[in-house]
Amino acid sequence: MKNPLVIANWKMKLGSAEALALAKKISKSSAKFGGAEVVLCPSFTELAAVSDIMRESGIRVGAQNCFWEEQGAFTGEVSPKQLLAHSITTVLVGHSERRAHLDESSEMIHKKIRMLLSLGLRPVLCVGEQFDDRAEGQKEVVLLKQLHDALNGLWLTDACQLVVAYEPVWVIGSGQDIDPNEIEHTHQVIEQTLYDLFSHQAVDEHVKIIYGGSVDPENVGRYIAQPTVDGVLVGTASLDATQFFAIVAGALKA
Ligand code: PEP
Repeated sequence: MKNPLVIANWKMKLGSAEALALAKKISKSSAKFGGAEVVLCPSFTELAAVSDIMRESGIRVGAQNCFWEEQGAFTGEVSPKQLLAHSITTVLVGHSERRAHLDESSEMIHKKIRMLLSLGLRPVLCVGEQFDDRAEGQKEVVLLKQLHDALNGLWLTDACQLVVAYEPVWVIGSGQDIDPNEIEHTHQVIEQTLYDLFSHQAVDEHVKIIYGGSVDPENVGRYIAQPTVDGVLVGTASLDATQFFAIVAGALKA
């Protein structure tokens, strides 16, 4: 049986009161999550309060982004060290919405991952192709480039943990299911690329590969049942406690 990793990305979708109410509901049901690692990623403004709510629950809290320096004159940014002070260790990096709307470049993503790994935090590197890339047969080329740009020249020491989230951009927020065999094939390509970048042992011991893109209670079992799918990254469906519980339950059952 797997111990699936289920990460909730709340994006910028919840007001403060809504986020805290959702966190309280999730915390109350945390006993049902045994066997899964659940990480909630609220907005920065709710990180401390959600962390407080989750303190005794076994559920972790992560961040949706961070900066690549520890400290300094970087107005509006939040550093990995500041996150660590709140016991936040899981951080999304390179989400497609940041790549698209904020021009987050490969270089920025690389620098963030380097800093996070060096401080012992766990980056969740998001990679994924556009619909046109796939239609033109370029999916794997795009993924390989994103992985190489983000990870080339980095080391995974014993203290490092890394998550790669495969998120086809055209599936995010679309409500579409995707063929689980296609996910498995793509995850195998990602895994092989990671083997080429690091050692087999380092990847097997320190890396998880998860899937994200319109994951819901109905499709999660089929996705998690694939051998190389270690978990899921959930956006829309993580904003509803009932759906989110059903996703964690489905991930545990698979
Ligand atoms: C996401 O934004 O990472 C995501 C997977 O969103 P959704 O579940 O809504 O597709």
